Amino acid sequence: MSDHKISTKCVQAGYTPGNGEPRQIPIIQSTTFKYATGEDMGKLFDLEASGYFYSRLQNPTNDAVAAKIAALEGGKAAMLTSSGQAANFLALFNICECGSHIVSSSSIYGGTFNLISVTMAKMGVEVTFVSPDASEEELSAAFRENTRAVFGESIANPALTVLDIEKFARAAHAHGVPLIVDNTFPTPINCRPIEWGADIVTHSTTKYMDGHGAAIGGAIVDGGNFDWMAYADKFPGLCTPDESYHGVTYAEKFGKEGAFITKCTSQLMRDLGCVQAPQNAFYLNLGLESLHVRMPRHVENGQAVAEFLEGHPKVAFVNYPGLPSDKYHALAMKYMPKGGCGVVSFELKGGREAAERFMKKLKLAAIETHVADARTCCLNPASTTHRQMTEQQLKEAGVPAGLVRISCGLEDKEDLIADLAQALEAV
Ligand SMILES: *Cc1c(COP(=O)(O)O)cnc(C)c1O
Repeated sequence: MSDHKISTKCVQAGYTPGNGEPRQIPIIQSTTFKYATGEDMGKLFDLEASGYFYSRLQNPTNDAVAAKIAALEGGKAAMLTSSGQAANFLALFNICECGSHIVSSSSIYGGTFNLISVTMAKMGVEVTFVSPDASEEELSAAFRENTRAVFGESIANPALTVLDIEKFARAAHAHGVPLIVDNTFPTPINCRPIEWGADIVTHSTTKYMDGHGAAIGGAIVDGGNFDWMAYADKFPGLCTPDESYHGVTYAEKFGKEGAFITKCTSQLMRDLGCVQAPQNAFYLNLGLESLHVRMPRHVENGQAVAEFLEGHPKVAFVNYPGLPSDKYHALAMKYMPKGGCGVVSFELKGGREAAERFMKKLKLAAIETHVADARTCCLNPASTTHRQMTEQQLKEAGVPAGLVRISCGLEDKEDLIADLAQALEAV
């Protein structure tokens, strides 16, 4: 499968049925798995043999879908989680603990900003937020002795800034820590961060990967390149025996390619239990089977809508990395030459009030806390997903109060533009 093109992997990677087996990935709707002897099962608990025993740790449906996502990202191992939030939390907490420090781009999803700046702070994990546009020197200055990870979003939700993945990876590696990239918006169809030096990739599969607004989910992919043992003092969880798992040292036993996901599964998923239901993994896989067909259409519609808005007299500005006028156009051309995603954000000249009036008038685009769906939807982030932020934090995150985020679905672009035009008329 590794020699095939990404479209073929979307359709077929992760699951190869044998003779007479189901063509579609079976939904293994079972909490537990049967063994003939206690010894057989004991080997699984000791990580001496691989196999299934309880679906909180591993389930065959989830594993097949995770393997597909690993193949799409060019990673070595992957796991599914119950949501994108769980994916980012587990990816960070797998290498951070009380007393650790994270360097994160300030331009990230509101939920992740909260997770890192509030909830993880209560666990004793500190963070320094840096501008996605930070210079090498500014980035370097953000690191501390206790820094354990660098975090950013390939295309930020909702600010649509594009991360300079190579620059962030260089800074992370110069300080002996991995770069974690949330690749939800471009998906591996349009950008593969591991190829640019990212170590861990996370996803809210709720978005384009599912693509139909059917199931909340997340995924973590390990590129298998980060040498944990070379920085053993920074990552004791991976490089010293885990007494809660019979003294296994993950980086020794599973190597660079397996340590991160094995620890994350056998320790964090065991203890925190944020598993994806096999039924949801099945829906996710249906989405993945057409991801390569859908993404170009989302991009085509996003580009057309962005161009229309940019030319409209009532629009103050448009963020869309596909526009040559966009601040992030050059980075987008480098990291995602086929286009980024279908999400466009813009501010009306009339500010927050005009935005609300405009959204009420839309007929095709529904007001939803969602993006990356087959159906076009829109939102005013400052009064919804980002409402916990102060004016200053909103500004730093690139989310002014009057910003409208529109996620272009798979409808005909002419109908979408006509809908926007009539709503703008009414403002
Ligand atoms: C939506 C989103 C998340 C959170 O994912 P959920 O599946 O809603 O928990 C994380 N990161 C990004 C970039 C997102 O768009």
